[in-house]
Amino acid sequence: METDVGVSTSEEANGSAAKKKPTVVFVLGGPGSGKGTQCAYIVEHFGFTHFSAGDLLRGEIDSGSENGLMIKSMMNEGKIVPSEVTVKLLQKAMEESGNEKFLIDGFPRNDENRAAFAAVTGIEPAFVLFFDCPEEEMERRILNRNQGRDDDNIETIRKRFKVFLQSSLPVVQYYESIGKVHKIDAARPVEEVFESVKAVFTSINEKVKPHGRVQQKSTLLKLQLKWKMSFLRNGVCKGY
Ligand code: UDP
Ligand code: MG
Repeated sequence: METDVGVSTSEEANGSAAKKKPTVVFVLGGPGSGKGTQCAYIVEHFGFTHFSAGDLLRGEIDSGSENGLMIKSMMNEGKIVPSEVTVKLLQKAMEESGNEKFLIDGFPRNDENRAAFAAVTGIEPAFVLFFDCPEEEMERRILNRNQGRDDDNIETIRKRFKVFLQSSLPVVQYYESIGKVHKIDAARPVEEVFESVKAVFTSINEKVKPHGRVQQKSTLLKLQLKWKMSFLRNGVCKGY
């Protein structure tokens, strides 16, 4: 299992100061699997900034941008908006956030999304959370949630399920093949699901910590050596 959530560095274009690359966790799962709900808990407990690709796209529609109409009609058909649009929105949101740890929910939705994000931002996810939930349960949740979304009607929901199976599951399978997926049984009550999610983030934090302890230990050794040297020097000066 790839668990490197450390912050890597890359040289800036001018080759001077090294720029920190943010830590990104992709949160994937079918429509209604609970991504947004769980992300809110993760933010509270683990200090991530959460971006929902769907919410960013809805914001773009509301802002009356030139892409708004195109995005609106694609969403109403359950189709995947061109990568260029979504990746730009995500990149801008990350740059403006001031944080270095991001949960990106509902993206990448197809292989092209995945490749475009990597190519534009140079970021590969630290890992992927996958919320696994049966279709009947997801459908029940969406029809009960009343969020006033145009695409939460039975006709569009069915289209979204189809797109999820055809285009988004292969992305999960890709990340599974490189050992980056943490699969969560999402068909349980919210609190129970979060216990599993918490366990993933806690175990990853723990795997990162020993490195910190090693560093602390070596700093302590260096200090001890410094004291010994200064003691010897003083001792010699004083003629012992
Ligand atoms: N969408 C998209 N690209 C994305 C995220 C969302 O094209 O990266 C569109 C797509 O039409 C999808 C809709 O936005 O059906 C709603 O996405 P959201 O993640 O909000 O809903 P979910 O399917 O998770 O309930
Ligand atoms: Mg959502």
